[in-house]
Amino acid sequence: MPRGISKHKQQRDELEINMEKKLQEAKDNEQKEIKLQAAVHGLSRVPGKCPVGRCKDVVFPSNMMVHVLHKHLHSTGITSSEMYEHKPAVICFDPMVCEYGVNKCLATFLFGGVEGKPQTLPGLTYLSQHNSALFNDNRKYENYLPIMMMACRSTWYAHLKDKMLERELVGMNGSNAGIYVFWLVAPKTTRNLYYSLTIYDRYYLNSRSVIRLVRDYASYQNPSDFIPMEQNYLLLRDSEVNELMLGPNPKDKQFRPGIPMEIIIYENPTETPVQRIGKKKLQEALEQLPDDYIRKYAPLSGDW
Ligand SMILES: [Zn+2]
Repeated sequence: MPRGISKHKQQRDELEINMEKKLQEAKDNEQKEIKLQAAVHGLSRVPGKCPVGRCKDVVFPSNMMVHVLHKHLHSTGITSSEMYEHKPAVICFDPMVCEYGVNKCLATFLFGGVEGKPQTLPGLTYLSQHNSALFNDNRKYENYLPIMMMACRSTWYAHLKDKMLERELVGMNGSNAGIYVFWLVAPKTTRNLYYSLTIYDRYYLNSRSVIRLVRDYASYQNPSDFIPMEQNYLLLRDSEVNELMLGPNPKDKQFRPGIPMEIIIYENPTETPVQRIGKKKLQEALEQLPDDYIRKYAPLSGDW
């Protein structure tokens, strides 16, 4: 075969191979998209009770965003902000806000995937269902995921599967077995959503950090029901809380009643290392809490 014709044939073959590759890629992507869509369709649409103890509302998963925006965003003591993958948020936990056995919402986060990449919004990557019933400016949260950080006062006896025994022991010795339970909840997602929760002492010298999964708000929300069954929470004993609270003189201007906590949410724990907020930034963030934090990070409009 003449050299020119052979080269031409080779080029044509390469072109065909490339075309086939691209066609296969397109087919694979289409299949992937169909699978992801099916996963979202497979998510339960059954309503669940709002995890906040004092709220009696039963909420559909697709209505949780409107419920959070309407009822739990600007409540006293709740830190609220838009939240993005691997971007830390800081709250200050005041143990005085907790009552025994009553779930308290400490923070509401409107999770929007990777900051600056609207194509990664949870509703668009098939991580979660679209949020319905949003109007005016709040429509921008149609594809965000509402996440609540919860805390509840309980006792060590909550670990017991025998609930009758738990009640007996709480009655006998509950005041010496106090704990605080912390966890994050959201409408169920198609893929795991992780968070790291770091608790600091007053001087930011010691910290304790855990990685956990965001829980489904429609499953058990009473720590006494879920502590014996799973791991997705953090416990602090009364003695630990007292130790963390030890600090500067309350008359000191810098004194803030509470325990600094940092929350970082992410979908893939292996993708990029979690970047913690530095000591200086943490202090700055805490000084601004709660009002400036809400204004700076969540310029949410009230349409209600
Ligand atoms: Zn509620």
